[in-house]
Amino acid sequence: MIYLKQTKETRPERLFRVWRPVSLAALAAFCMLWMGGCATPYYNITDFNTVVIDPGHGGRDTGAFTRRRRPQLLEKNLTLDVGQRVAVKLREAGFRVILTRRSDRFITLDDRVDCSNQYSKSVFVAIHFNDSSRRGAHGPEVYHNRRGTWELAARIERYLSTMPGAEDRGVKTARYRVLRKSRGPALLVECGFLSNPREANRCANAVWRDQVATRIARAIIAQRR
Ligand SMILES: [Zn+2]
Repeated sequence: MIYLKQTKETRPERLFRVWRPVSLAALAAFCMLWMGGCATPYYNITDFNTVVIDPGHGGRDTGAFTRRRRPQLLEKNLTLDVGQRVAVKLREAGFRVILTRRSDRFITLDDRVDCSNQYSKSVFVAIHFNDSSRRGAHGPEVYHNRRGTWELAARIERYLSTMPGAEDRGVKTARYRVLRKSRGPALLVECGFLSNPREANRCANAVWRDQVATRIARAIIAQRR
């Protein structure tokens, strides 16, 4: 029989014994958080047949406006015009297109998302025009906030950047409510800055708006393989 001599616990051993369960719990929490992040839906936006176009603002919500407040250049009117143009082009390409509004009426952000969430195999595209305290700011911006939506966002931004006088401002992320609450892939396109007098003049031109709509539609069509 061998008698084991009981030795006194050293300081490092005691620290290890006390902190081991804490560090294991921290590791487990980290893993759960990481796996939770991985569980965020990844959208492979190539297989879709429906596009929900959301012309921003409407009714009492005018959105952005030019410095001289030209009534025809209220953001709500421009978004409706561009949204309807995109819709026509996408329908011609065989897509089912839903417009969240077809007239100058106010709709809450949640109603816009609820409308979109009724459709599976769909992409939600909100149309807006931008505003900035920096007069010189110009060019399109495309926002997304989910993994997997970057490719389409970048494609739209790239196509819009080929507009005369446009600047590629890159794809951006934001926690806009319509992006957060959408069950499917969702993007928000800022077509140009109404706060920039030169760009506002472009926005006033129906031919320019049609070119913007053509580029947005072409990017969406090119995304479906
Ligand atoms: Zn807006």
